[in-house]
Amino acid sequence: MSSALFEQRKEALRKQVLLESFHSVDYDLLDSEVEKRAEKAFDELLRNDEGLDPSDHLMHTRRTAQESPVFKVLEKMPKGALLHTHGIATGPFESLVKRLQADDLVYIYVGPELDEDGAADVAARAPGSEAHYEETAIEGEIRYMTNREATNHMQTRGGWVPISDLDEVEVLAYLQVPPDTPRDKRWTVFQHCWNRVRELSDALPLWDGRDSYFWDILTQLLKTGVNYVEIKQLIPVGFVKPENNGERINREATIDEFMDTFIATVELFKKENPTFVGAKMVWSALKVFSPEVVRENVDTVLRLEEKYPGWIAGFDLVGHEDSLKPISTYVDALAYYKDRGGRLLLHAGETIDPNNEQLYDAIALGCERIGHAYALPKHPSLVRIVKERGITVECCPMSNQCLGYVDDLRNHPGLMMLNAGVKITISSDDAATFGYDDVTYDFALVAKAWGLTLAQLKHLARASFRCSTLDHDAVLKAQAQFDKDWSNFLKSEVVAEHLLK
Ligand SMILES: [Zn+2]
Repeated sequence: MSSALFEQRKEALRKQVLLESFHSVDYDLLDSEVEKRAEKAFDELLRNDEGLDPSDHLMHTRRTAQESPVFKVLEKMPKGALLHTHGIATGPFESLVKRLQADDLVYIYVGPELDEDGAADVAARAPGSEAHYEETAIEGEIRYMTNREATNHMQTRGGWVPISDLDEVEVLAYLQVPPDTPRDKRWTVFQHCWNRVRELSDALPLWDGRDSYFWDILTQLLKTGVNYVEIKQLIPVGFVKPENNGERINREATIDEFMDTFIATVELFKKENPTFVGAKMVWSALKVFSPEVVRENVDTVLRLEEKYPGWIAGFDLVGHEDSLKPISTYVDALAYYKDRGGRLLLHAGETIDPNNEQLYDAIALGCERIGHAYALPKHPSLVRIVKERGITVECCPMSNQCLGYVDDLRNHPGLMMLNAGVKITISSDDAATFGYDDVTYDFALVAKAWGLTLAQLKHLARASFRCSTLDHDAVLKAQAQFDKDWSNFLKSEVVAEHLLK
C-alpha cells in the first residue's frame, strides 16, 4: 500500500471509530495542528509505555503505573464529569484516616466479630429493621462515640478502642480489599470494608466545610482534572453529629441537614475554585431493603428534589447484584419515582452470570444511565435499544477488575460498547476501597488496554457532561470550561515534555 493510501486508510479508520463511538459528536475531533501532533506522539508514547499493565490487579501495579509517562500526561488531562462514585470511597482514604485519628470521638472495634456475615450486618441496620445498629459490630468497624458510650460498649462486649491507638496502615488495611483476596471472596471482603464505615460515612463532620474529608475529596478531584461529580450515597438511618465537648452524639440529624451541609461545602468549594462546575447527590438504597422501605426512600428523594432543585441527580440501587435482591423486587417504587419525573441511574448488569436478566429490567424501567452494564454486549438487542435511547453506561474498569469480573482489561467489554456506538463514561466506583483515589488510573489503563487515541480520550472526557444530569445551559458552560482547561493542558509542561518535544 502506498504511504498516501495508508495515511488515508488510517484517518478514515480513526474518524469512523470516533463517530461510531459517540452519538451526535458536537465538535470536530481535534481542532488544531498542535493537537494532531500531540495525538501522534501520544500513540507512540502509549505503545512504548511499559509501566501500564492492564493484565494485573491495580493494587499490585499502582506504583509502577503512576510513574509511567502516559499516566503522567493523563494525570493533567481534563477528565470532565465523574458520574459513578460512592460517597467517602471516592477517596483519598489516607486523608480520611488521618482526620479520624485526630478526632477524640472516633473509635474502632478490634474485638471478636459479633456478626460474621457482612451483608446481614448491613441488613440488620437497614431502615425499618428492628435490630439497632448498636447490637452488632464487625472487626475494624469505625464509629463516632463519646467516651461514656465507648466505656459502656467496652463493659458489655469489649474491643472498642480510640482509633488513634492504631497506626494509619493498620486502619487502612481494614478499609481496603487486599489484592490477593481470592476471586470468590472479593465481594464479601469489599462489603466488609463498606460495613466498617457504614455509620461513619454518614457522619456530618466528614462533609462539613473547608476542614472536612469531603473537601479533601473535591480538592483531589479537581487536581486530577475532574470538575463535576455525581456522588452516590446511601440513605442512612440517622446521621451522626458529634458535639464538640465530647458529651453527646446526636444520631438524629436529618437528611435535610445533610443536604444543607453538602450544599454549603460545594458552594464554598466552587467559590474558592471557580473552574469547579459542581456536585450533585445520587441518593441510593441497598438491595437488601424491603420494597416498602425503598418506596419510603423514593418518597424522601422526591421530597428532597422539590426542596433542593438542581442538587439531586437521581436514584440508584446498590449492592452485590449476584446475591442480593434483583431490581424487579422494587419495580413498583421505581416506576412510581420515574412517573414523577425522577431519574433512574441504576446499577445493573454488573455480573458474569449467564442467567442474569437485570439489564432488561433497568432498561424497561427507563433508566437514563446504567451503572456498569458489564454484561451489555452479551445482549445485542439491548445494545440497540441503549443506543437508540441514548442511555449512558457508567463504565468502571478498575472496579470490575478489582472485584474479579475481568482479569485483563484488554478483555473488558467497555471497548466493545465504545466500538458499538454506546455512550460510555469512565468512572472509579469505590476507588478508595481498591487502594486508589484518582480516575486517571482508569483512563490510563483503558487507554493502554483498548488502544485509545488522545482524541478518543478527549471525547470521553468532554462528552461526560452530556451524560450527566446537568441541564443544557450548564452542559454548555461546563464544556466551555473544559475547552479552556484542555487548551491549558496542551500548553502544560508535561505535554511539552512528552508529546510536543
Ligand atoms: Zn457502583
